[in-house]
Amino acid sequence: MPELPPLPEDPSVDELRSVARRLDLARRSRELDRAPAFPWPEYRALGEAGLLGLHVPSELGGRGWPVRRVGVALYHLGYLAGTTFAKLSLQPEFSSVLAEHGSADLVREWFRPIVRGETLVGNQITEPGAGSDAGAIRAAAVPDGDHYLLSGTKSEAAFATDAQAAIVYARVPGPDPRREITAFLVPRDLPGVHAESPAGDLGERWQRRGTVRYDRVRLPGRLRIGDVGAAFDYVQHELTREHALLAAIYLGVARASWEETVRFVEERKVFGRPLSAQEAVAFALVADGAELEASWLYTDRVLERLDRGVESDRDAALAKWMATEVALRTIDHAIQFHGGRGYSQELPHEQRWRDVRSGRIAHGPSEIMLWVAARRLWPRREPKSGETRPSG
Ligand SMILES: Cc1cc2nc3c(=O)[nH]c(=O)nc-3n(C[C@H](O)[C@H](O)[C@H](O)COP(=O)(O)OP(=O)(O)OC[C@H]3O[C@@H](n4cnc5c(N)ncnc54)[C@H](O)[C@@H]3O)c2cc1C
Repeated sequence: MPELPPLPEDPSVDELRSVARRLDLARRSRELDRAPAFPWPEYRALGEAGLLGLHVPSELGGRGWPVRRVGVALYHLGYLAGTTFAKLSLQPEFSSVLAEHGSADLVREWFRPIVRGETLVGNQITEPGAGSDAGAIRAAAVPDGDHYLLSGTKSEAAFATDAQAAIVYARVPGPDPRREITAFLVPRDLPGVHAESPAGDLGERWQRRGTVRYDRVRLPGRLRIGDVGAAFDYVQHELTREHALLAAIYLGVARASWEETVRFVEERKVFGRPLSAQEAVAFALVADGAELEASWLYTDRVLERLDRGVESDRDAALAKWMATEVALRTIDHAIQFHGGRGYSQELPHEQRWRDVRSGRIAHGPSEIMLWVAARRLWPRREPKSGETRPSG
């Protein structure tokens, strides 16, 4: 048997393995690809097992783990069961703007139930005319007494028709267009909210992405999260952590395909000898293994620095970019070296590739990750009018 480099270790790993086995997460992830639905039973079970909100402080019902430890856990969840449940376990993390800046009432009513797996809250920034350039969003929340009237369209949104509410980013018109974008917690059952989730994504189909139209939705002022115009400042910290944690997931998923392929090419005989004896195959797998390890070491350093309070949007963006590229290359080789079966749904590689492929677009496209880094290399002044804000 080939000798494989060790997986990152943490005391949490045994527990994760046993939950993944008990809930049969690897099999469920494959089922959800074929019959996309939001996995409510597993979401609740992860909440009950305390696996939602790994990073959430204990006073809010989470485990309060340091970011690095969460990264190792997600690496393992990705390794054991693909992206589905690793990303699901980050749901409260994706709502940290609510946890950190929402009023005590909003946190009690909406955030704590996410950690328990009872409530699903989406995040809606993207619009038909504003994706990578998130500062171009046009949805507006116009003050109306002690309410706001919310109008606009949000697109590409995960859980559009499954989530009970969403954190919606909209402009509150004011004298400075650079300080208008504000976050609101918007329940989906309010009059004027129209959501649809057309089927048909390449991967991560369980997210059932869709479009939500807000037609003069009357929002009580208490649903505003934090200050007017401060939403992008809030979301920046969340995005930095997210990018590093997503990198850990993609590397774990790719590691599974890599290990399976390393074993397979030892057994598979072609032209009378194992595939591993073909240098083209062996060298590609050795290079993939080295890149997986190097990308993890880089990600690990970013995670560990986050725990020490050293927050670098550049480093986290590069971790996500690098991990996505390395993971896709590795899984693509897994498909290739498994031959015809590699291309089929009989094996998990093609789903892993489709799921990880979202990483080049979701949570900020790869070009935006590189742009964030380029802005550090060649700092430029931001334009004076309007607000330019890359989605990453
Ligand atoms: C699986 C998935 C889940 C998602 N979930 C959500 C969600 O829950 N909520 C939400 O709000 N959004 C979500 N999105 C949307 C995602 O954030 C946007 O698709 C992304 O920000 C890109 O925006 P866009 O689609 O408008 O593409 P555009 O901004 O039109 O960009 C198109 C492409 O152009 C390239 N590009 C863009 N800018 C530059 C540049 N400056 N330099 C070079 N190339 C560039 C990139 O390749 C990019 O993919 C999700 C997307 C996916 C795939």
